[in-house]
Amino acid sequence: MKKVICPDCHEPVEIKEKDPKVGEIIECENCGAEIEITSLEPLSVSLIEEEK
Ligand SMILES: [Zn+2]
Repeated sequence: MKKVICPDCHEPVEIKEKDPKVGEIIECENCGAEIEITSLEPLSVSLIEEEK
């Protein structure tokens, strides 16, 4: 299982998708942030800012 580092809380987040794709949204289980996969090789993500 692939892991990324949450850009918000810097905790590792597991990617549950077997075949993650660019643009896939995952949720950090630690802080609840939504994270978008922006690249697969190398794997990188960006935080989706929520309007509050
Ligand atoms: Zn987080």
